[in-house]
Amino acid sequence: MLKKEIRDILEKSKKWGWVLEPDAQRIFALYGFKIPEYGVSTTPEQAVAIARKIGYPVVAKIVSPAVVHKSDVKGVVVGIKDDQTLTATLKRLSKIEGFVGMLIAEMAKGLELIIGAKNDFQFGPMILLGMGGVGVEIYKDVSLRMAPLKARDAEHMINELVARKLLTGYRGSEPVNLPFLKKTLISFSRLMMDLQDVVESIDLNPVMCTAKSCIVVDSRIMLKQ
Ligand code: ADP
Ligand code: MG
Repeated sequence: MLKKEIRDILEKSKKWGWVLEPDAQRIFALYGFKIPEYGVSTTPEQAVAIARKIGYPVVAKIVSPAVVHKSDVKGVVVGIKDDQTLTATLKRLSKIEGFVGMLIAEMAKGLELIIGAKNDFQFGPMILLGMGGVGVEIYKDVSLRMAPLKARDAEHMINELVARKLLTGYRGSEPVNLPFLKKTLISFSRLMMDLQDVVESIDLNPVMCTAKSCIVVDSRIMLKQ
């Protein structure tokens, strides 16, 4: 049985067919995933209060039921360092179609990965792990498994990536906390199994991993029609 707060979020999101980022992030937080601290604002005063509480630099993003891909409408600004830039960003984002608020989040760091799930009509929930960032569309470096994942499946998925060396510390780059990444994959598979009746697909893009942990920076939950 899903927590009441999750059921309420899913119910309210039905009319849009997908779960807005602040609500999706809340679901991931309720499931114990690490997410950046965030708040949603509609006024400059609120925005400044949230950003000061989080601490600059922050990221600002459009929240709109009409905007599934935020960067496509220039709806994401990273590295905002002061109140002035923040309020100017709010002014600009509030003109984008369907604006309901501006999400302000803590800046995360790390190697960008993608974790996804798709409800396949034949195989049921499938879990995807891939390298994220700018190269993602070019390399198509992904591994796939049927959910639910066992510890061994998660391990194999990581090992199957062509770019796995980037995870273990390539040419002096910091290695990623692989046990944490495995744990993240397994929790994600569990969440997808719990939500499979209502969810069409989920994209965590990116998840940022460091030597310490993995943090879900952007989440998108598409609902079944
Ligand atoms: P969308 O995928 O809808 O375009 P994202 O939320 O993924 O929007 O933001 C686009 C990019 O901005 C991300 O791929 C990431 O590189 C960067 N980004 C977004 N949120 C953060 C954050 N909290 N910390 C650091 N970088 C971020
Ligand atoms: Mg994204």
